[in-house]
Amino acid sequence: MIRTVWDLRSFLEHHAPDQPEYHQAVLAWFDHIKDDLDDDHLKDGLIERMITPDRIISFKVVWRDDRGRARLNRAWRVQHSQTIGPYKGGLRFHPHVNASVLKFLAFEQTAKNILTGLFLGGAKGGMDIDPRELSMGEQERVCTAFMTELHKYIGQYTDIPAGDIGVDAGMISTLQKTFSQVTGRFDGTLTGKWVCAGGSQGRDEATGYGCVYFLRHVLDDHHDDLEGKAVAISGAGNVATHAAEKALALGAKVISLSNSVGTLHSPKGLSPEDLERTKHNRLEQLELKNATFHKGQTPWSLPCDIAMPCATQNELDHEDAKALSQGPCRVIVEGANMPLTDQATEYCKDAGLVIAPGKAANAGGVAVSGLERAQNTTGKPWSRQHVDQALQDVMTEIHERCTRHIHRSGGRYDYSRGADRSAFRQWSTVLMTQGV
Ligand code: NDP
Repeated sequence: MIRTVWDLRSFLEHHAPDQPEYHQAVLAWFDHIKDDLDDDHLKDGLIERMITPDRIISFKVVWRDDRGRARLNRAWRVQHSQTIGPYKGGLRFHPHVNASVLKFLAFEQTAKNILTGLFLGGAKGGMDIDPRELSMGEQERVCTAFMTELHKYIGQYTDIPAGDIGVDAGMISTLQKTFSQVTGRFDGTLTGKWVCAGGSQGRDEATGYGCVYFLRHVLDDHHDDLEGKAVAISGAGNVATHAAEKALALGAKVISLSNSVGTLHSPKGLSPEDLERTKHNRLEQLELKNATFHKGQTPWSLPCDIAMPCATQNELDHEDAKALSQGPCRVIVEGANMPLTDQATEYCKDAGLVIAPGKAANAGGVAVSGLERAQNTTGKPWSRQHVDQALQDVMTEIHERCTRHIHRSGGRYDYSRGADRSAFRQWSTVLMTQGV
């Protein structure tokens, strides 16, 4: 029976050895909800049941490259929980994908999806491949081979994948094509498609825009607003560029974007035109009048009011946290999933920074994916304005859920604790009333 953090550590070491990202996510969550556990929860082994995925489907993907050689990659779908709806979560194609990373993402996705209020379960999947190294033809053959296996386990009422790192709308549309070919169905099983291929208006923008809508609520809680704020953003992909776009539109100054090579710094702030160019070019190859690229650097030593890590897990470490805390930064909004290391989180909290956790702040993407499925099911597309209003409503609801079960301490909300406690209450109530 898991009663204490030591019980939890030994459970994880026994049942999930060598899975550091998964341990990190589960331990942080347990710290937030442990005071809400009662004897019935413990008697029924609730923690063990909540942290253990329903199943992990592991499969090989064999495809042929442009030189005619057979290639093999490893792929997984972690179906974490179907307690309050069909499994739902993205697909990540990246060389560092492994079972630990996908287990942490699927676990976090479950809590995130509960926070949206949309009756979706949690899942995550992916493959250890770098799609950027592939030709168009190779990408197509990889997607076909991947979906030829995955289609057996997904469906609009069972499991609904979407994109994530390395899987954009074009690739989702290719995956959808294979899904339709092998099943004979087009029913909203895959979300994040091109709009012209059955996707939703506003899905591409939803995660980044949602982060900024959540940020507005956080600033409002602290009697502040976005006007003129210097925002440092990491990443230059889907989440980062759309967060930058919305922050700019709402009066903030975006002073950085970054990628795995380095950081683009614009002390006066990127213009909308600069930003548009970052969407179509590698940052290190761009020549902009008001910005310089710094190889090997992260954005976190740049003076900013707000930091938005939007690249990947554990991208902001202890040293970055120290640098960030020494400047004027007061708020961190996690566009990526678990972008701060444990040490960085602790340091920033101790230094008085407010953290908006990824499972709340970046939930806009999955929320609009839920709306895309609804549009596919009814056959009625929604307008961009309608989707954007629905996104804003969901982010308002998530913010309300994050503050419902906590009080301010030192004038600040601990949104991470609030998010986990809120999702835990709903999830545990359902599990306890359903029985085993
Ligand atoms: P993309 O693949 O579109 O972009 C990822 C960006 O991050 C790229 O610019 C990449 O640079 C950069 N990056 C990757 N690793 C590093 C690193 N170690 N240091 C610095 N930069 C790095 O992914 P998304 O924008 O879709 O996803 C970003 C994060 O947001 C992930 O954590 C994802 O799980 C999360 N998320 C995404 C959602 C979505 O709707 N897309 C929904 C919710 C969460 P390079 O090209 O050089 O590798």
